[in-house]
Amino acid sequence: MNPATRSAFPGFAWSLSRQKTLAECPRRYAYEYYFSHNGWLADASEETKRIYRLKKLTSLEMFFGSSLHNVIQNAISNYSKSRKIPRPDDLVRLVRSSLNAAYIDSTRHYGLWFDKPSRYTMFRDVYYGDGLPPDKIEEIRSRIGACAESFPKSKTFREISGGRNVRLMELERFRTLPFADVDVVVVMDIVYRDRDTGRWVVADWKTGKESAEDRTQLALYAMYLQKLYDIPSIRDITIRNEYLATGTWREYKLEPIDVDNTLYVLERSVMEMRRYMEDIDGNVPYELEAFPLTEYTRHCERCNFKELCGR
Ligand code: SF4
Repeated sequence: MNPATRSAFPGFAWSLSRQKTLAECPRRYAYEYYFSHNGWLADASEETKRIYRLKKLTSLEMFFGSSLHNVIQNAISNYSKSRKIPRPDDLVRLVRSSLNAAYIDSTRHYGLWFDKPSRYTMFRDVYYGDGLPPDKIEEIRSRIGACAESFPKSKTFREISGGRNVRLMELERFRTLPFADVDVVVVMDIVYRDRDTGRWVVADWKTGKESAEDRTQLALYAMYLQKLYDIPSIRDITIRNEYLATGTWREYKLEPIDVDNTLYVLERSVMEMRRYMEDIDGNVPYELEAFPLTEYTRHCERCNFKELCGR
């Protein structure tokens, strides 16, 4: 890309994880969403490349979650073509092999990761010299088995495979949709429509514990779906979290008041983010020093950028 036409900062898009990062630490937010931008380019400054590299560090938990999501996505796509019910053993094998490859990257291919941090994996614990904690490895090992057993028995998979007249919607996983005057990032796992009842279902695979934000995230999905497919009432959409580690699920139906509340949360959050912008239209931030370090040092322990800010 011609450096003259390249933008120094990305366009603004709101997401729940962006909001969470800002709430935890404004400095980390600055690194993640502004000062790592363009760090993948050969002619970027060494400082920008360094920030970008650190941004790409991952945790065992996050890597496991994203591997399992990919494996499930493929299993559903294979099911739609072949009607073959996925076997838990196969799911376990696939997730394990991607975790093993990531471990090899982290422990043996430092140089490759250093040059191409988006192609290779580096676990944060390995990078910072502590190694992967044995208790975490053990926990993830048992979670892989539990999640693989739960997936074919999940309410969502049983609904799409149980002979109902269901239409799976083809969706790109990452979409943005304008709400009010901002783009909102929506990452949906699965959406389908029961043609007999007219009911829409949007579901999310969760590989960790329940959290207070799960419902807000699903509310955004429902609002997105309603807009995208012109669904007359938000009440026609069932939103569901599938907690695969425990084999449980929670589902909700939204009321119009939930939509108002979610929009309120979104607006407040965007206002907070704009306080850090020198130019709102261009999404240009103030200097790095304008983003304070968090007061809650417990967030520092698991932060990718701890070698930069001195905590
Ligand atoms: S180490 Fe702590 S203060 Fe520094 S960026 Fe990370 S979370 Fe913020």
